[in-house]
Amino acid sequence: MKYINKYKSPNYNSRNSSKIKLIIIHYTALKNTTDGISYLCNKVNKVSSHYFISQDGTVYSLVDDKFRAWHAGQSYWEGRTDINSISIGIELDYSPYGKNNKYSKKMISSLKKLLIKIQKKYEISKNHILAHSDVAPFRKKDPGKHFPWKLLYSSNIILKFDKIRKTDKHIIEKWFDYYNFNSKKKIIIFILSIIGYDTRHVHENPLLYNKLINAYKIRYLNKEDKKSNKLIYNTLIVHLINFLLTKN
Ligand SMILES: [Zn+2]
Repeated sequence: MKYINKYKSPNYNSRNSSKIKLIIIHYTALKNTTDGISYLCNKVNKVSSHYFISQDGTVYSLVDDKFRAWHAGQSYWEGRTDINSISIGIELDYSPYGKNNKYSKKMISSLKKLLIKIQKKYEISKNHILAHSDVAPFRKKDPGKHFPWKLLYSSNIILKFDKIRKTDKHIIEKWFDYYNFNSKKKIIIFILSIIGYDTRHVHENPLLYNKLINAYKIRYLNKEDKKSNKLIYNTLIVHLINFLLTKN
């Protein structure tokens, strides 16, 4: 993995001793590495990331881990809203509209190595490697539906969902009955909130609810088109059980 230290972004401030808990993955939506780096290092743009990975797999360190880079914007995870203070941001040289619209093998191979390194160093949980669209589902779509999450879970970097036993599903559903969750939608929202998503305003707002569901689909079903509530519900039940059994 080629590692370059010579380009630095001025766009950062202090973490105020917050612990690093999350890794957020982004794409730049810019046309190449030169544009990506100059954008992230330009004071005027007020954005940055700790790392940038080019299509050829070169890793650029733009902001030191110990500082608070500005990549997540208005975000939310597990009740926290200042995501920049508790995260490492990784930007990928990828644009869904450009020539760089593929996640190259070299890029993903470097990303995996970098994730493993950061994960070990800061003891980051498998559930805490996230898409920008996970922490900002109402505004953001990156790293998008083509990002190869499967390669990350097959390398044991993020949580892999094991099949669940029917009895486990029944126990969970009985429990939902017991607490009078009288619709699948309520259960879906409840599970999303346990996983960490921002569900604060989705009950009463169908537009936000759909955006949240879409963010979940992009990440876990690699789809943006219409998918039935039933499939999302079943995926979330499997997700919840795996999540509860392997939280740390
Ligand atoms: Zn982003």
